[in-house]
Amino acid sequence: MSTETLAQIVATVGKEIADAHRGEGKVADYIPALARVDANRFGLAVITCDGQMAEYGDAWLPFSIQSISKVFTLTMALQRMGESLWVRVGREPSGSRFNSIVQLEAEGGVPRNPFINAGAIVVTDAVLAGRTPGEAVDDIRDTLRRLAGADTIDVDKEVATSEAATGYRNYSLANFMKGFDNLHSPVEDVLQTYFHQCSLRITCRQLARAGLFLANEGVDPLTGEVVISPEHARRINAIMMTCGHYDASGEFAFQVGLPGKSGVGGGILTIVPDVAAVAVWSPGLNAVGNSQVGTLALERLAARMRWSVF
Ligand code: GLN
Repeated sequence: MSTETLAQIVATVGKEIADAHRGEGKVADYIPALARVDANRFGLAVITCDGQMAEYGDAWLPFSIQSISKVFTLTMALQRMGESLWVRVGREPSGSRFNSIVQLEAEGGVPRNPFINAGAIVVTDAVLAGRTPGEAVDDIRDTLRRLAGADTIDVDKEVATSEAATGYRNYSLANFMKGFDNLHSPVEDVLQTYFHQCSLRITCRQLARAGLFLANEGVDPLTGEVVISPEHARRINAIMMTCGHYDASGEFAFQVGLPGKSGVGGGILTIVPDVAAVAVWSPGLNAVGNSQVGTLALERLAARMRWSVF
């Protein structure tokens, strides 16, 4: 039996992966603020349901949350709308890229799942309902701040502006769904909210902390806050497992065996049910748009900890 502590294993895995692979992958370059991020950054943070924290490397540096924000807006939309959300968005893996439009027409403007861009835009519309984009963005930011216990989490305005200036595909997806009556607020309002949620900056430590309620059936184990019902928490985990890495979701389940959600900022949030939340950050992406070195770190950590839902 190994007597190594969690902190030792996290430090060892972090160092092994960083030494062997640091800088691998291609940093997202569709906007300047992401393109200039140092490819050599690497951070890893684990927080357990009993409050242990372990970390390696750049776990204190903020990065662009991007699509990982979709986990938190899905949580908020389920809080607001409950099961009726599933009329407007499915929960089936798409097998397509994150910004693909191909299935939308055949499927009547109902996106496959909440983690491809089309689905996340519908979810954001649900979070926005009855409010201004400014109010909705403040609510998303404040939810993350509260869950992370960190009031430094904020929107990177430059990223948000660039996302809007270059977001042609997201405008296409949103207009297409509006044509099917699957967006209720004006397209511009929904997308402004979506671009701002993607532009939040967060550290690995904060992200792992913010996701911890998903490891504990919807209740933050350290504060006792009931964030969401156990049924919804289970379903969010199921969708992270099946759809969290776009068309590489099967590979992530195969290699890591845990629910996870990636973003093009290079972050990944991973849930170890009943045990812990893990956040990793390495900006270089693989061909599918998921953090290349981050995925390797999670594979190694899950194997060493014998973490898997299977
Ligand atoms: N802001 C990006 C987009 O909407 C997020 C994509 C991602 O992280 N996969 O295209």
